[in-house]
Amino acid sequence: MSDVQEVSTNPAKTNLLGLTQSKMEAFFESIGEKRFRAQQVLKWVHQLGVVDFEQMSNISKDLRHKLTQVAEIRFPTVEQQLDSVDGTRKFLIRVEGGSVIETVFIPDGERGTLCVSSQVGCSLDCSFCATGKQGFNRDLTAAEIIGQVWIAAQSFGQLQVGGPRRITNVVLMGMGEPLLNFDNVVDSMHLMMHDNCYGISKRRVTLSTSGVVPALDRLGEHTDACLAISLHAPNDALRNELVPINKKYPIAMLLASAKRYIDGLPDTHRKITIEYTLMDHVNDRPEHAHELAELLKDVPVKINLIPFNPFAQSDYKRVSNNSLRRFQNILIDAGFVTTVRTTRGDDIDAACGQLAGNINDLTRRAERYRNKHLAQQQEDAVRIIG
Ligand code: SF4
Repeated sequence: MSDVQEVSTNPAKTNLLGLTQSKMEAFFESIGEKRFRAQQVLKWVHQLGVVDFEQMSNISKDLRHKLTQVAEIRFPTVEQQLDSVDGTRKFLIRVEGGSVIETVFIPDGERGTLCVSSQVGCSLDCSFCATGKQGFNRDLTAAEIIGQVWIAAQSFGQLQVGGPRRITNVVLMGMGEPLLNFDNVVDSMHLMMHDNCYGISKRRVTLSTSGVVPALDRLGEHTDACLAISLHAPNDALRNELVPINKKYPIAMLLASAKRYIDGLPDTHRKITIEYTLMDHVNDRPEHAHELAELLKDVPVKINLIPFNPFAQSDYKRVSNNSLRRFQNILIDAGFVTTVRTTRGDDIDAACGQLAGNINDLTRRAERYRNKHLAQQQEDAVRIIG
């Protein structure tokens, strides 16, 4: 167990951890104090890791006392911290209500990427996703989302004067669909990027969505962070199967919305990251790669291929190395920057949604998948014999 624990659970106190600067200013006004106190407290908490008001030395004694009466800095609890031999660090974090979420830090040279969760479980039921198999529990609060960044930064000694800047990038790609928890995600992204907090560049904070188009259409009014799309298929028929929200918001609608977001950003040359999880004999054929290249030819994208990471409740299999290289080469030949995500933290199950312990297959999707493929095999056998 880590020594990071919830400070208090007094519901009468306002938790300041997830408040953006403007919301913190409103809080100070509401208790009859000056607005500039907000930036002082933000710096103490998010830059110096100080969560005890009594230690905030540039705040008067009276105000410190008042704050201890009406406010608190409350964190979720670190249940377990797992360190991989390759430097990947995974946190299992218990949030109020008892559920456990995951946060993963992945180092890569000078760069350190923190993968943050936005919901407990997920309602979108993507067929290849371990998180989706848990069903949806609840949205995380802004405090619980930014709390993951705080916990990870604190674990590296980053939150102190001259502390090492280990977290250079944040991706909202952990458990949950960020655009279904819009307000809390937007607030936490503000805190990640704000100069009085973590000061991470807008080019290094990425929101990844499976395609909640109405929310994506609003995103540009609230942030200028980077965008990733979990595509995973080059056509609607296959994507309907892998990412069911596609039935509601098909690929053309999703790409048009993503393009509007990117086009609306003040800086040019930004690209949408396309995430494509490759599964053996599902979406890894050359014709899929050619279809994907055709689909994306007029969209400013870079493509990230992710070899599927098998887990107990899924029948999908990892793509073969040959198919992976062939798929990548087709996209490169078509002119796309195409990278392959390397597997990290295998020894600590670092891939998203692969909680230590049991995952209840609440949706029985694996069984449906098995039955469907059994039926297909039987049909094929009848065809061959007949
Ligand atoms: S892939 Fe993302 S959106 Fe789909 S079920 Fe998993 S967490 Fe939810």
